[in-house]
Amino acid sequence: MEAIMGDFERIVMPGMTHWQHPRFFAYFPANAAPPSMLAEMLVTTIAAQCMLWQTSPAATEVEGVMVDWLRQALGLPDGMTGVIQDSASSATLSAVLTMRERATGFTGNRQGLNAKGALRIYCSDQVHSSIDRACWVAGIGQDNLVKLPTHGPTFAIDPDMLEAAIQRDIAGGHVPAGIIAITGGTGVGACDDLEAVADIAAKHDLYTHLDAAWAGSAMICPEFRDALWAGAERYDSIVFNPHKWLGAQFDCAIQFLKDATPQLNTLKIEPEYLKTTGAEVTNYSEWTIPLGRRFRALKIWFLLRSYGLDGLRARIRNHVTWANEVAQKIEAMEGFEITTAPILSLFSFRCPGDDEMQQQLVDALNDDGRIYLTQGMFDGRKIIRFQVGQFDTTRDDVLMAADVIHEVWETLA
Ligand SMILES: *Cc1c(COP(=O)(O)O)cnc(C)c1O
Repeated sequence: MEAIMGDFERIVMPGMTHWQHPRFFAYFPANAAPPSMLAEMLVTTIAAQCMLWQTSPAATEVEGVMVDWLRQALGLPDGMTGVIQDSASSATLSAVLTMRERATGFTGNRQGLNAKGALRIYCSDQVHSSIDRACWVAGIGQDNLVKLPTHGPTFAIDPDMLEAAIQRDIAGGHVPAGIIAITGGTGVGACDDLEAVADIAAKHDLYTHLDAAWAGSAMICPEFRDALWAGAERYDSIVFNPHKWLGAQFDCAIQFLKDATPQLNTLKIEPEYLKTTGAEVTNYSEWTIPLGRRFRALKIWFLLRSYGLDGLRARIRNHVTWANEVAQKIEAMEGFEITTAPILSLFSFRCPGDDEMQQQLVDALNDDGRIYLTQGMFDGRKIIRFQVGQFDTTRDDVLMAADVIHEVWETLA
């Protein structure tokens, strides 16, 4: 063991990216608050496979309670239930499969998709690539994922274009199956007008899924809900990742469901060897694609009890405030431009120069090693993304980033 650990330090650690570093401003965070790490250590040590209620009753019961605590924390209505998945990608795939089954009268699983017509799913051009992949593997096909342009300060899907696209498809003999909305897109934080999208879905009886993988965590703060969350309660399925901003160690994605029945009708399968006797119980593996399940609820319990919602809210509020401050600092730098203003704690900027210069600056910053940023594309131009969200980052860490950016840029200019 000594030799193995020695090799681990020597060979593996130098090749790891330090996601828990307070000056990690790339991608989105994958926070691991210490109490949630402790829970993960317990879960790993117990090493239970929690696929059915009877294969670890406490895991199922705690999961039910944690989903409900988070439902309340996000201001979602009574009666919404949910399940913990490994990732937003899996939750989105579950929702897309449910859209498919619902639109085919729950016959797709049995008969395949031959002769079902072209099922169509709608979203904006700001969605995460997990939506594309869900449509690939669900048999919908990329060509039947209709991506519509966005408008306004939060880059929301254009409702008139959405309505027109659905009308055109119906007239063309296609079968609209569902709409996927976003709160907090990955590129620049795009947020759809949830009421407007839900109105259109209701009019056409379409199943709705809301991807709030990153920004869902911020909805524990009531002050963000008016602008970004109004109407969320109308969605059939909502996903958010406590393993991003909230602080629950990876992996942990919550899928809320207004009514679990359509997803159970899509995914539930009960061979003899998985049948259990006795009272009616919840078997969460019937709600998801994998059968085997880790005990993910424990880290949420530890997290929420240690910090309380107020402790977690204070962090998120600080991150949003500091993101605005550092954006102002960058904007004040000669020739620098804020390309998208902060949505919650995410904004983007450009340094003077062409697209290639943006990439050069990102690479030079990452070689420098004091801060970590990544690039993106917006409106056909390369941008530099900046998000604040690491659990223990401080105002000094965040503001210092602007100085580092300026200093490193001067070495290139
Ligand atoms: C991170 C992210 C995803 C993918 O999340 P996984 O849990 O890694 O599958 C999907 N959508 C958005 C908006 C995200 O930020």
